[in-house]
Amino acid sequence: MALDGRKINFAAGPAKLPEEVLLKMQEEQLNFNNLGVSVIEMSHRSKEFGVLLNETISLIRELMNVPDNFEILFMQGGGTGQFAAIPLNLKGNHDHADYIVTGAWSSKAAEEAQKYIKVKKVFQPSKPYVTVPDQEKWVHDEKAAYLYYCANETVHGIEFTPTAPESHNVPLIADVSSNFMARPFDFKDHGVVFGGAQKNLGAAGLTIVIVRKDLIGKEQGITPAVFSYKEMIANNSLYNTPPTGGIYTTNLVLKWIRAKGGLQAIYELNLKKSGLIYGIIDNSNGFYHCAVDKRYRSIMNVCFRIGGASGNDELEEKFLKGAIERNMISLKGHRSVGGIRASLYNAITLEETQVLATWMNEFEKQYNTN
Ligand code: PMP
Repeated sequence: MALDGRKINFAAGPAKLPEEVLLKMQEEQLNFNNLGVSVIEMSHRSKEFGVLLNETISLIRELMNVPDNFEILFMQGGGTGQFAAIPLNLKGNHDHADYIVTGAWSSKAAEEAQKYIKVKKVFQPSKPYVTVPDQEKWVHDEKAAYLYYCANETVHGIEFTPTAPESHNVPLIADVSSNFMARPFDFKDHGVVFGGAQKNLGAAGLTIVIVRKDLIGKEQGITPAVFSYKEMIANNSLYNTPPTGGIYTTNLVLKWIRAKGGLQAIYELNLKKSGLIYGIIDNSNGFYHCAVDKRYRSIMNVCFRIGGASGNDELEEKFLKGAIERNMISLKGHRSVGGIRASLYNAITLEETQVLATWMNEFEKQYNTN
């Protein structure tokens, strides 16, 4: 559905929301469920908000097939808050935690965790980040509190596929901020799965944390109450005022995902969208260049350079300018890597991806001299 005046928004997050969701929000803005108030004006302890909250939790459980031995929490502080909350909650009697650093976000997570637990990296990360090093060569052990990984590195476009890392009998911790519900998820071996809602699932401000029950209740004494999984579960995520508007937005997005056929259907569409763009890159004789190891290419954040492996600033600027003229925004790569990044989150349609593909083909015809 294309609405007048709307841009095609390839932002990395906060990112595009489905138009159906935005229209529903608009429709309900002044009068939610005939209550005569907006949902963001309601008490978080009202019966009606409780219904919305519990329904949102049930929808996550249903769509992601979350096993019964996991709790679903609504927290604040973003993915970044969880970088601290994880060691605070999970250290227990352990001496250290193992970290798989495959990009900027897992690197930040490891850095933050060091304040609360001894961090061991399972391999020495090497830049530029382009792959997941061979698992056989990792050094990690069964004494670690957990093994941490970022399921999708948003800045570099590196995604753990097709499976999560081998856990070696310690709980796996997954940061799914940028591929939350982009594909079916296997909870096997996982202890905590978390992410902010602002890319695939709604608005900034809501952090969804899915925690295995046996890991709860071991938090360090210094853990702030709002970061304590135990406190949050004991209060059904109402320890303090939650981001009510964010929970409402996610509720609508989840219903939209369900109406689209659930995670398998969404995944198939995401494969088509990203396949379209990677296909153009691979058939361009190096004019478009994606540095990421093909096995780990992200279906969410497609990162590439124009005019060869190190990119040609002038061409990239021309490309971005032309994209804007064609109604496409936020295609500029992260400042630390440069180039182009097309974030193809769930709400981006195949038609919108095709507009980008058409522009890439046109641009290549004009400037590819190979
Ligand atoms: N992890 C990943 C993979 C991210 O992409 C981001 C945000 N872009 C974060 C963590 C940090 O999330 P927040 O900004 O919600 O703290």
